[in-house]
Amino acid sequence: MKNFHTHTVRCHHAVGIVSEYVEEAIAKKMTHLGFSDHVPLPDNRWSDVRMDMSELEEYIKEIDDATEKYQQIEIFKGLECEWAPEYINYYKEELLGKYEFQYLVGGAHYMPVHGEWVGCYSAENRKENLIAYTNYLIKSIDSGLFAFIAHPDLFARFYHQWDSEAQSCSKAILEAAADRKAILEINGYGYRKSKITTTDGDRRPYPIDPFWEMAADYNIGVIINSDAHKPQDVNDFGEAYALAERLNLQIEELQIKENIMAKV
Ligand SMILES: [Zn+2]
Ligand SMILES: [Zn+2]
Repeated sequence: MKNFHTHTVRCHHAVGIVSEYVEEAIAKKMTHLGFSDHVPLPDNRWSDVRMDMSELEEYIKEIDDATEKYQQIEIFKGLECEWAPEYINYYKEELLGKYEFQYLVGGAHYMPVHGEWVGCYSAENRKENLIAYTNYLIKSIDSGLFAFIAHPDLFARFYHQWDSEAQSCSKAILEAAADRKAILEINGYGYRKSKITTTDGDRRPYPIDPFWEMAADYNIGVIINSDAHKPQDVNDFGEAYALAERLNLQIEELQIKENIMAKV
């Protein structure tokens, strides 16, 4: 069993240090564990949900030490990142270059709406937010920077209807992913989260089945991760494997090529 989406206590909304996740993963007989805590940003944007720049070296050291100490599991060094043009050099030259991160995960947790960043967890259920999310996620996909795209259907957290707008935005996301051969993640954390109330009844915030049913019509590779925020959740994928199996989705393997994570 593999998981490439793991947080640590540094992001202020997870618990556990690197070795606690690794030991839990070993106890659960996992073979691969990738750390992808929320990237620190040079301008300290959204600092309440991510590590500070000053903690980056310590994060790297903790992963490097664990890689040396625990030989019975493969450990990978990554970060979950928001795409923005002003960060491209930082991501490429500093993180993938100087700091030798093996992979970056693309995640849209905010989207620019009329020049303001709006959070997916506080956004109103409005079409303009859905469209902003979609445009922003497609830019993240088109950047080609990311080993995979985390929870592409996170828009369902704030946009509750599966209406024509949600369908056309989902199509646009899926077309972009197919064009760029981007891997999309079915995110296990969504299965552990509290249900949200919509006019069609209560449902989990994400993943949403109709998005993935639509994905089955495209030539898209998927990855399933736990998005662990607690050590004991390291291999909790919810119903994601059952969903992928039911829809016959193609699960992609990641591997390191020239020190960077890529599709096999
Ligand atoms: Zn995320
Ligand atoms: Zn995450």
